[in-house]
Amino acid sequence: MKIGVAKEVEYRERRVALIPDAIAKLTKQGLEIWVESGLGEQSCFEDSAYEEAGAQVISDKEKLWKEVDVLLKVGSPVEEELGLLTPGKVLISFLNPLGQPEMIQKLANAQVTALSMELIPRTSRAQSMDALSSQAGVAGYKAVLIAAAALPKFFPMLTTAAGTIRPAKVFVIGAGVAGLQAIATARRLGAVVEAFDIRPAVKEEVQSLGAKFVEVTLNEETVAEGGYAREISEDSKRRSQELVAEHVKTADVVITTAQVPGKKAPRLVTKEMVAQMKPGSVVVDLAAEQGGNCEVSEAGKDVVYEGVTVIGPINLPASMAIHASQMYAKNISTLLNYLVKEGELNLDFDDDIISGTVVTHGGEIRNQRVKDALASEQSPVAN
Ligand code: NAD
Repeated sequence: MKIGVAKEVEYRERRVALIPDAIAKLTKQGLEIWVESGLGEQSCFEDSAYEEAGAQVISDKEKLWKEVDVLLKVGSPVEEELGLLTPGKVLISFLNPLGQPEMIQKLANAQVTALSMELIPRTSRAQSMDALSSQAGVAGYKAVLIAAAALPKFFPMLTTAAGTIRPAKVFVIGAGVAGLQAIATARRLGAVVEAFDIRPAVKEEVQSLGAKFVEVTLNEETVAEGGYAREISEDSKRRSQELVAEHVKTADVVITTAQVPGKKAPRLVTKEMVAQMKPGSVVVDLAAEQGGNCEVSEAGKDVVYEGVTVIGPINLPASMAIHASQMYAKNISTLLNYLVKEGELNLDFDDDIISGTVVTHGGEIRNQRVKDALASEQSPVAN
């Protein structure tokens, strides 16, 4: 069976789906690996390294897309690439299925079997395939470095002959995978860290990283299926905003990471809160691409508002392309190994990992939430 690794064409996407180190294990399984020439030119992996690892480097993109059985990517195919996907092809990549259900419909229409890396179940059994987590960890780390670079202050406490420097105060909102890595990174740099999340279960994890947990008691269930946050009521939003406002005001750095799967990111930091921060303070909004946790942030821009720098980075994992690709390659090759039995693809839909991850097969969309998202987009009352 031929596995192809396609070059990413999206602006800013520097990651690759397989790095040379991941290839040997796959070829040992009897898989033939084709990589598009120049695949790793933006992530420092040379064609020669892929060849040495046992892959064939193919310079004809069309040949690669048409002749492989399974195509691996990081980001979803662009419009022009959809035409290269022939019926029966298997595509594995991030597909943003809830954000672009119409693209998923096109994959179904093209009779492609598409597996969405976002839909890997968040279970211990699938942990080593969980690319959302591996890439969120990269984003959380990098967000803190960006904040530290933009802040006109030190992070650590310093005792020097020129006086004592007080440590920076970092407030992390949303203590999921990205938030926890942001907390750990800010702590390593010596900041005093506080964190807020509507899921009380994260309190212990936050504290174990040496940060203070800012706790709100809400009179409703905040956790949905799979351990994710659910959208909260207006009353709960108001109560959490009051608490968030107190802590934003005194922070030098605010890192926001709050998301609710399939929904626009919750708006947690208002313009008024930003205006109350000290001049020179920094906000990094990791949810900027999903509408933003901060009212001021704009995706891909640094906005200075009332003396506060509000940064809305796009695709941070791509900015750490070597390690982000290494982790993604581990996730996707573990999934591939899981799917392949005796050199052949075995789509056992009784398996929760496989049935959860396959989003289109046999001309149909298989995931109910994607079907619902598509129906609401097509409905005349959808907004
Ligand atoms: P995410 O990216 O969906 O959201 C980030 C954080 O924002 C979450 O902690 C969420 O609770 C928080 N949030 C949402 N709305 C908020 C609000 N209004 N105010 C404050 N915070 C808010 O989350 P994630 O990092 O993908 O993790 C989601 C869940 O999945 C967690 O329970 C995590 O433990 C679980 N998980 C499990 C596994 C596994 O078992 N293999 C792997 C990764 C994550």
